Amino acid sequence: MTLEEEILWLEMKIRKCRRCRLSNFRTNVVVGEGSLRPKIFFIGEAPGRSEDREGRPFVGAAGNVLARLLEFIDLSREAVYITNVVKCRPPGNREPTKEEIEACRPYLERQLFLLRPKLIATLGRIAWKWVCDEFGLEYYSLSKVHGKTFDVVTWYGRAKIVPLYHPAVAVYNPNREQTLREDMAKLKQLL
Ligand code: URA
Repeated sequence: MTLEEEILWLEMKIRKCRRCRLSNFRTNVVVGEGSLRPKIFFIGEAPGRSEDREGRPFVGAAGNVLARLLEFIDLSREAVYITNVVKCRPPGNREPTKEEIEACRPYLERQLFLLRPKLIATLGRIAWKWVCDEFGLEYYSLSKVHGKTFDVVTWYGRAKIVPLYHPAVAVYNPNREQTLREDMAKLKQLL
């Protein structure tokens, strides 16, 4: 199978998933989208209301912030890949539970394995915690580690991981958007 076929096959499987109860509440599964040779692989937390409605990641208010951040470092959405730890919307936008995160883990693992990104940016605490668990990094709070680079050896090779605050924190707080911009500038230097 070609990479495109592998990805399509995976998407089909994820769309039919009933591994956890989030599947009872979803309108659409949000698998992820973007380049299959992404310059940066972004990992968010979980779909929100707009994403659940449209079946695409980061298309609501947080998505607008992410769009501005990408523009700031001259990258288009098409040049990166964007997905989430959890592919279905938790009701009322609550945080996904441990069980839901574990039920969904193989899907993000497979996406990473297929796309083999050299540069991964996590958006928010849940995604940062996910990569710490996955790649054996010690977890520190985002206030300590945001914008720093972590070198990891993954099962597909070496990669750099940069934890960022979640764009949603900037929706009502311009200071946080400034911090996010500074961290995006560091990310750009790694490209
Ligand atoms: N927040 C996320 O973490 N992911 C999305 O796709 C949208 C909002």
